[in-house]
Amino acid sequence: MMRPRLARIGMLAAALAVAGPLRAADPAEAVRLYALDCGHATSKDGGFLSDTGEYDGKPLAVVVPCFLIRHSKGTLLWDTGLSDRVAESPNGVDQEGIHMSMPKSLAGQLKDLGLSADDVTYLAFSHLHFDHTSNANAFAGATTWLMNGTDLKWALGTPTPFGVDPASFSAYSKAKTKMIEGDYDVFGDGAVRILKTPGHTPGHQVLLLQLRKAGTVILSGDLYHLRDNRKFRRIPTFNSSRAETLASIDRIERIVKNRKARFVVQHDPKDFAALPKFPAYLE
Ligand SMILES: [Zn+2]
Repeated sequence: MMRPRLARIGMLAAALAVAGPLRAADPAEAVRLYALDCGHATSKDGGFLSDTGEYDGKPLAVVVPCFLIRHSKGTLLWDTGLSDRVAESPNGVDQEGIHMSMPKSLAGQLKDLGLSADDVTYLAFSHLHFDHTSNANAFAGATTWLMNGTDLKWALGTPTPFGVDPASFSAYSKAKTKMIEGDYDVFGDGAVRILKTPGHTPGHQVLLLQLRKAGTVILSGDLYHLRDNRKFRRIPTFNSSRAETLASIDRIERIVKNRKARFVVQHDPKDFAALPKFPAYLE
């Protein structure tokens, strides 16, 4: 009995989803979290994800999501993924032993929601490694960049740190920016908060969301890359500080426990697959 009705609701939702421009000017009432597929990366040797050797010589596959948070006061894009140029190559691209692919561009996914780059109110990065900053320069118009000063200083240092591509976020110098250090409440109501978690990089941060139905959700950035790294407290070889990473893990795991939060390891394929498939969202 319910099936046709649900199907009709599904069609209505799909129709609304393509009625883009209206949606762009009509911000969602409740906070919504969209998980966008901003790429996939594989390597024959995932050894760099643990400095205690568990992944040495073993293949690795990660996802590279971007997250769009819609709030009544605006829209936040959290991380910008691999470059949309990767999406132009049907077979993906290879770079320094890493194979990267992207089924659809970030710009294309925003368009599916009726959004252009200028509809993104705020842009923030968990940290400034290239797989979190590619496409950033597309947001140099109306978007305000929430830049972590410590990470920016580190990423612009000489020599360029491993994993950083300064050209991928160079538009920060002409974009509207707000420099932040430490915790930051994006919309001022506690619903979307950036939390300081240094260690992977000096200015690394995670995102805490308070959603109406889903409760507290925490997006990991690269506090962990895999569920197993969380379970066994494995630390990547290239983190800026092992000690700071462990201290950040201690902080966030206490918050997870205290708020019974859902924790999302951004690069973990299973955690990504467990989120509503875009354009569906968590609220
Ligand atoms: Zn990453």
